[in-house]
Amino acid sequence: MQKKNIAILGSTGSIGTQALEVIRQHPDKFKVEILTARSNADLLIEQAKLFSPTMIVITDKNQAEKVKIALSNTNIKIYSDENSLAEIVKSDTIDIVLTALVGYAGLLPTLNALEAKKTIALANKETLVVAGELVMNLAKKNNCHILPVDSEHSAIFQCLVGENYQQIEKIILTASGGPFRGKKTQDLIHITKTQALKHPNWSMGAKITIDSASLMNKGLEVIEAKWLFGMANDQIDVVVHPQSIVHSLVQFKDSSIKAQLGLPDMKLPIQYAFGFPDRLENNFERFNFLNYPQLTFESPDLTTFRNLSLAFEALKKGGNMPCILNAANEIAVDKFLHDKISFLGMSDLIENVMQKMTFIQNPTYNDYVKTDIETRKISENYGNK
Ligand code: NAD
Ligand code: MG
Repeated sequence: MQKKNIAILGSTGSIGTQALEVIRQHPDKFKVEILTARSNADLLIEQAKLFSPTMIVITDKNQAEKVKIALSNTNIKIYSDENSLAEIVKSDTIDIVLTALVGYAGLLPTLNALEAKKTIALANKETLVVAGELVMNLAKKNNCHILPVDSEHSAIFQCLVGENYQQIEKIILTASGGPFRGKKTQDLIHITKTQALKHPNWSMGAKITIDSASLMNKGLEVIEAKWLFGMANDQIDVVVHPQSIVHSLVQFKDSSIKAQLGLPDMKLPIQYAFGFPDRLENNFERFNFLNYPQLTFESPDLTTFRNLSLAFEALKKGGNMPCILNAANEIAVDKFLHDKISFLGMSDLIENVMQKMTFIQNPTYNDYVKTDIETRKISENYGNK
């Protein structure tokens, strides 16, 4: 395998730091070419010193000077102007762009990377939620791979190696159920952010951890799966599997089901995307069936976890509705994390904003940009007198 040059967008986050661990384990296979972060200057500096990328971006301008001073005795090019994140992904020297930043901010860099014919290792599911059709069409036109990093989608992708996509009957996404599995609406009224930030099986960034607690994460993943694998809406099921060992499944037309299993560790899907189509040796802990004598499965509770049913509604409606859902959710999560709305209030906000926004059946890129801005504005004002 030829050495691959990698750009990590969001290198200081949960996925970004795990991606660097994977690269550190395989210095003969991967090289860090670009690192980007929003505001964690200290960690970005440390990573830059350790991995010697050619370029880095810090999008928070207030942190730029600090980074420049700390790295002044290196040859690393440092950028912090507004367009640098979206522009840097076009660099000739990169092969793979790992999108490990959060939310809508991932869309433009991903589109630009695809324009420049790069392979995408996609962690940023919001990109496909917002504009899945646009992104997949561009990838197809330019013959680019979009390799999933989300564990469920990586599982499905691994199950589909060597298979004919026309012979898929359905995809079954597993969900851990989050920290509030089994709870009913009245139990969730006084949930605090500290409770919601404690995920039973995965350690992740704040936004996705809240999304996992509210099951919005699974809703976003259903939409992500639709576009990644070209499924019809009724070809995607969700099953709750609290142990997070079966990472997802594919059922074929002959009734056969394939699943991918393993201990919950994001380094595996990251490594699979980087190494694809090769599987690379590693020393990750191995799964032992005897430690898990019971793997269990149950239906998701759509009445209690309204965010998941709102996501199904957005999926069914199509057009710019998933983009609206995503932007409203980003603001709702932010408000919840700043104690401005309650846990259940997030669903109220999203539902209200989905009703208020103008629906567009066949949105262009500019429609998505406008939809995102407008949805954020209405969501910010939600609840104000
Ligand atoms: P995180 O909050 O831990 O890290 C986010 C990274 O992106 C940081 O480096 C931050 O500086 C940067 N960033 C955030 N917002 C930005 C912006 N607006 N502009 C520029 N940079 C920005 O997040 P995470 O948990 O690593 O998740 C990253 C993405 O991967 C999300 O889309 C998430 O849904 C997806 N994902 C994460 C996991 C996981 O285990 N953490 C699993 C599956 C999918
Ligand atoms: Mg996932």
